[in-house]
Amino acid sequence: MERSLETQVSQAVDAWLAWLPRWEPATHRGRVAPCRRCFGSPVLSAAGLGADVPHGVQHGLSTRIKTIVDRAVAEYTSLNLPMLQAELDQQAARNRARSYRPAEGLDPEYEGLPLDPEPVAGAPFLFTVSGLAAEADADVPALPPLSAEAKAALRQEVGLADDYANMVGREVCTILLHHRLRIQAAITQYVEPQIEAMLEELTRSLDAPFDPREPPAG
Ligand SMILES: [Zn+2]
Repeated sequence: MERSLETQVSQAVDAWLAWLPRWEPATHRGRVAPCRRCFGSPVLSAAGLGADVPHGVQHGLSTRIKTIVDRAVAEYTSLNLPMLQAELDQQAARNRARSYRPAEGLDPEYEGLPLDPEPVAGAPFLFTVSGLAAEADADVPALPPLSAEAKAALRQEVGLADDYANMVGREVCTILLHHRLRIQAAITQYVEPQIEAMLEELTRSLDAPFDPREPPAG
């Protein structure tokens, strides 16, 4: 690995801190399903970004950290797990053959989120981005089936890759503990004032159901 995990995590936190001042609370309807990457994430608890922090803020960090773990596992796989690597190469070639790949090349803040907004009852979409992607996927021929032995060997390598991913994940969490203070300081500076302003706005609109500029009747 050309850069240590410490350096990579530190740079990911730097990048997230540089992005955070541009974060704004989402004004659209919230997601119905919890994000699989962020919900209960040990990475986010290590970073001190609990459930009280808005999801957009969490997602920007959890995705950047996931990239580090993925890269480490990819390197380990290419060096040690030849069957899994061959399988991944085949899948990558198949992916490149797809004509439409909307989930690729997104900014970290958007990566891994649903491609389409939540459907609204009574207002069907004419098409969805995920529907178009599925059509492009169906145009590419499936990979040839594996023998039972090959499958068992592959499964073993997948298990090793999983173990390695867990090990790197734990290491990354330990490193993140050292960044908690600057993460917390940024939340206090950029996120909490926006949330307080939103709550204040909400309280004001609940307290004043009528136009406050009009004098009270009677
Ligand atoms: Zn998320």
